[in-house]
Amino acid sequence: MAFPFKNLEDFKIEFEPRHEELRIRARRFAEIELKPRLFRIEKTGKIPRELIRKAGAEGFLGIGIPKIYGGVEGDLRDLAIVIEEIARISPAFGLTILVTYLFTIPVLLHGTEEQKKLLKKIVQGETYACHAATEPGGGSDLAGIRSIARRSEGGWILRGHKRFISGVDWADYFLILARALDASPEKRSRNLTFFIIERGHEKLRIILDECMGARGLSVGQIIMKDVYVPDSNVLGEIGQGLKIALETYSRMRIGAAALAVGIIQSSLESSLRYSLRRRAFGKPIIEFQSNQFKIVDVLSKLTASRLMLYWAANISKRSPRDLPIASSMAKLYSSGAAEDSAIKAIEIHGGLGVLVNALIERFLRDSEIVKMIEGTGEIQRIIIFRELLKRMEMLKDYY
Ligand SMILES: Cc1cc2nc3c(=O)[nH]c(=O)nc-3n(C[C@H](O)[C@H](O)[C@H](O)COP(=O)(O)OP(=O)(O)OC[C@H]3O[C@@H](n4cnc5c(N)ncnc54)[C@H](O)[C@@H]3O)c2cc1C
Repeated sequence: MAFPFKNLEDFKIEFEPRHEELRIRARRFAEIELKPRLFRIEKTGKIPRELIRKAGAEGFLGIGIPKIYGGVEGDLRDLAIVIEEIARISPAFGLTILVTYLFTIPVLLHGTEEQKKLLKKIVQGETYACHAATEPGGGSDLAGIRSIARRSEGGWILRGHKRFISGVDWADYFLILARALDASPEKRSRNLTFFIIERGHEKLRIILDECMGARGLSVGQIIMKDVYVPDSNVLGEIGQGLKIALETYSRMRIGAAALAVGIIQSSLESSLRYSLRRRAFGKPIIEFQSNQFKIVDVLSKLTASRLMLYWAANISKRSPRDLPIASSMAKLYSSGAAEDSAIKAIEIHGGLGVLVNALIERFLRDSEIVKMIEGTGEIQRIIIFRELLKRMEMLKDYY
């Protein structure tokens, strides 16, 4: 036994030849389509919409989605590889891709056949969809959300305010978490339900905000003042919202960890390239051990983060019960490692490290976003500890 896992099998990381092919394809996409646009995206804070169509054409939006819904099959290992490679150049675009999965995963798992018809165009990048759970009153405490859905003839009337919602300016569809029937905070998770709303509803207003990192990804607020949603747009059953959210986030934490790995990879490559070229006191700065040590620390964190990411992605296939603990640990560790690596990269680059146009300080800004999304470090620790307690029975023969 390798507590809190069953045995050494649980630590296996396996790939198939298709994964390396996918990595090469994702890297080529990132180098050709993203790299030349990166500076402009950072400066304007806008990602060209055509890029999501191109990502769709590559199959990057359809991983884990059956072919009948326009997907390319595959699993979280495929998603990890694609997002890691995209984030090596643009974490913002990696996150733009992940946002679609926050819609397509729950619809695939719980949607009606009619709702699943939406998937094809999203997967192709022709339409876009986002996921709105967080509110001004709180994001970590999902069960405490206050948006409400009141019963109305043949449907529901939604009222509430969502905040920090990624992809709001592009979204054709919004997956909204609201409390059906009553808004009593004491009842906590009871009646939380997801509703699909289409863009263009006159009683739905969008306000854009600006974040320190992931420049290019739109983040904003959704204000719903009596938005009518027909019964056919309820996702799953009334009251299933929290369960759907938690199973979606367990998977998406793999995506967040992959964003972190991409940032660390980029920090390492930039630091190494720069320190070989830059000279001080008559020699390349790589010759100073202090710089070598920083680079080695970044490499070690990169390797540990990557192994945890691949391990968590593998465990989702072999032992889905272990996915929440594994994906939370991968996300927790790698997002902290991304922040540390970003700081090291800034230090190695000296003044250039803090020059906005040099595109090095963005590693730090982007790592702060990765720390925040899919639950902060504290929330990951809560999940991990809860999962650890569930496994205490495994120790019963030893105490
Ligand atoms: C760029 C970006 C994109 C986002 N995209 C989306 C999106 O698409 N959809 C969506 O629904 N949300 C999205 N979010 C919201 C994100 O998930 C939340 O910001 C995050 O969950 C934290 O919630 P909060 O901001 O309300 O902080 P709070 O929940 O108010 O937390 C504040 C602080 O208190 C700590 N804390 C809270 N509860 C506990 C506890 N029990 N124990 C210990 N510490 C605790 C937190 O860790 C944090 O440090 C996005 C956020 C960002 C920044």
